[in-house]
Amino acid sequence: MGRGAPSQYRWWGTKGRKHTEPLVNVIDITGRVVGPVELIEPWNKWVKAILKLPIRRPVTIRPGRRFTDEHMATIYDRSESKGVKWLSCMMQAIGEVQSKRCASCDKNQGVFQQCIIVGGDLLQKCGNCE
Ligand SMILES: [Zn+2]
Repeated sequence: MGRGAPSQYRWWGTKGRKHTEPLVNVIDITGRVVGPVELIEPWNKWVKAILKLPIRRPVTIRPGRRFTDEHMATIYDRSESKGVKWLSCMMQAIGEVQSKRCASCDKNQGVFQQCIIVGGDLLQKCGNCE
């Protein structure tokens, strides 16, 4: 994808944050696009690990969970050391869908529809548990 975000992305983003390349869309259960997860710089080891992996699917939000453009803007937050919101979205796009959901997904905790785990040393939890 080239420079200049498509116009439908203009409304979206954190204040002061430059738009970058959209990596994958966040969608709701009906397939409606909430917004894109954009490329970020590899500012920690978890982000580095994620950016090496291929994207397999859009990120699906669980029915009944509100996930708006304001939520999308907060995924770039770096107030904790991992940047878990961006990571958890990307884990949903990249990992393996678990046929046996983990305990918290089974209780319908977390915003994502499926229990998806990337694996490896750094990314053992599912996106909902991060
Ligand atoms: Zn899970």
